[in-house]
Amino acid sequence: MIRQSLSKSELKEFQTLLHQRSKLLKGDFDGLEGETSGNGTDRAGDHSSVPGHMAELASDDSEKAFSYGRMESQTEELKEIKDALERILDGSFGSCENCQGRIPRERLKAISYARLCVKCQGKEESR
Ligand SMILES: [Zn+2]
Repeated sequence: MIRQSLSKSELKEFQTLLHQRSKLLKGDFDGLEGETSGNGTDRAGDHSSVPGHMAELASDDSEKAFSYGRMESQTEELKEIKDALERILDGSFGSCENCQGRIPRERLKAISYARLCVKCQGKEESR
């Protein structure tokens, strides 16, 4: 059993973050607005809550091809988010998959589905 270093309320917080992130990626703006403000009427026009790259909608063919590539990475990210949510449930969230060390909260706040600590991630990227 992996030692759990995050408190229940912190886990809950990350769970919420991950849910919101996955809704953004899926384009489920209604659901997100429903949670945050209770007002989901302005569905087509308001993209202000969407992070930069999703706000631009492709118009011509080259842009479509470009956004298709982006869609693949969104799918990847959704998968990471789903895995992270599962790790929250099984209690391994916040632990490095490689060395079982703790992933710092700051890192989890930046990338809530991070599965490696900073040290191991660095090794991974330099391979
Ligand atoms: Zn590690």
